[in-house]
Amino acid sequence: MNRINEQKPFDASFQVDLGALIKAVELLATHAPLGDASDLAMLPAKLPTYGVDEKALLSALSKLVLTGGFDLGGPVSFAHMDPPTPWLTWVMTLWNARLNQNLLHPATSPSARMIEERVVSWLAPYFGMSGGHMVPGSTIANLTALWAARDVRGVTEIVASDTAHVSIEKSARILGLPFRSVPTDETGRLIADSVKNVENACLVLVAGTTSTGAVDLLSLSGRAAWTHVDAAWAGPLRLSDHYASRLDGIEAADSVAVSAHKWLFQPKESALIFFRDTQAANAALSFGGAYLAAPNIGLLGSHGAAAVPLLAMLMAWGKEGLADRLDRCMAAAAKFASFVKSEERLELLGEPTTGVVVWRPRKIEIDMFYARLPSGLASQTTIKGSRWLRCVAANPNTNIDAVIADVSEAISRVD
Ligand SMILES: *Cc1c(COP(=O)(O)O)cnc(C)c1O
Repeated sequence: MNRINEQKPFDASFQVDLGALIKAVELLATHAPLGDASDLAMLPAKLPTYGVDEKALLSALSKLVLTGGFDLGGPVSFAHMDPPTPWLTWVMTLWNARLNQNLLHPATSPSARMIEERVVSWLAPYFGMSGGHMVPGSTIANLTALWAARDVRGVTEIVASDTAHVSIEKSARILGLPFRSVPTDETGRLIADSVKNVENACLVLVAGTTSTGAVDLLSLSGRAAWTHVDAAWAGPLRLSDHYASRLDGIEAADSVAVSAHKWLFQPKESALIFFRDTQAANAALSFGGAYLAAPNIGLLGSHGAAAVPLLAMLMAWGKEGLADRLDRCMAAAAKFASFVKSEERLELLGEPTTGVVVWRPRKIEIDMFYARLPSGLASQTTIKGSRWLRCVAANPNTNIDAVIADVSEAISRVD
């Protein structure tokens, strides 16, 4: 235990301990995530007064943290917008933690700031945008976009569909702007004819709604004073030659939000906000002065190098490697949807457009049926007051035959 008056030449807690780091990686390799939270009892009820040996702590925590996690890359993991992450991003996250760079200050992040600029410049053109920056999630990306809409164009209202993500209404509240919701059809897509009187508004269009993966009519871009596309989920499809056209029209937007910790397979928290006119947006979102050497753009103060794992993955996979994973996810969703259609005891809400499949059993009570499914195979959602199950193809390793076998078993079972 370290006491203040026992000054050491250096504190080993801040040095590279190769043995401990190798042990940490070994534990990672040997402790599969099993969704088993039973080890919570090992946690002290109160903040410990004195510490323990760090290496011994690694073993003690491995069960709680690693085994206690849910395996997003498992064969029937098909429920949420949270993807498994490639190992390269784990290593980059470790490197980031070791450096703890702060992108607020150019002096503490000489290469990391450039890396973020480079990644943004690679991706922005796929959305017709000129630039932007990274944020910890699309909740923040949406708020940043709506802030720019208010201060660049003076919008007086936020308009979005009734299936838009909660972060839109939240942002309107924070910005002190009225929020108007427009109706959607049964698949969750905004009814284009109801978009009226938006000349002074920020119109938010969704590319991949959270519940059903619906894509609003993106050609509505340009009708409002500012158009923001919330492409938190489906944005990465722009990088797939097969599916990019599903988001056609996005290039006419004023801003686009994309969550990298969804379909760009990044560790949380990683997302991007892109602008068509980055200069104008940055001018509205910048604060400078005092101790800041570079202007502080956007909502964040101190923030880390989330671009590093994204850059590494994009360099390792290339655009085609990423597109390949997205195409595999889309194929998995299509295969599952056709199974649902072919099975008379199941009902499909509609053809999946962005890898989200919404379905339910016809004759079995939904809670009872859901309880029969393995955890992580499906999630639940309510659409127009009616309950459905939802599968999300965020995991390129989902084994659809195994998913179909589990669902078939659940419909056939007599409790
Ligand atoms: C997930 C999601 C968000 C919020 O993004 P976070 O990265 O979770 O903050 C916003 N909009 C849509 C459509 C989403 O699916």
